[in-house]
Amino acid sequence: MFKYIIKGIKGVCPKCDMKTLFHNKFKVNDKCRDCGLTFLSNDDGTWFFLLLIDRAFFIFPLVVLMYFGFEPLIFVFVALILGSIFVFVSSIRLGIAVGIDYYLNSKSSKDKYISTREKNNKKN
Ligand SMILES: [Zn+2]
Repeated sequence: MFKYIIKGIKGVCPKCDMKTLFHNKFKVNDKCRDCGLTFLSNDDGTWFFLLLIDRAFFIFPLVVLMYFGFEPLIFVFVALILGSIFVFVSSIRLGIAVGIDYYLNSKSSKDKYISTREKNNKKN
């Protein structure tokens, strides 16, 4: 599982190892240019994991903050820092989400991730 997450962070397609995952720093391509693997689709769990990572990323520091004492000024300060870090790691969290999603899908349904290239080969 971690190898897929690391691939995602590196911006590498989990299936064919080509650097096709990111359109730019903040946007993931819909499909892999090389093997046709769908990175983001609405019907699978990619966005669910993205949401989960987002929540964990924001909530954990806030819980720590509350544990050590809740000061409004510090809260604003931390929120600003978190906001900037959040933008900075945007591509990383997208990569992680794609990696986890690919791992789970490749385990549960193998047919789903037959690449377009393989499909084309079968037709010919
Ligand atoms: Zn690929």
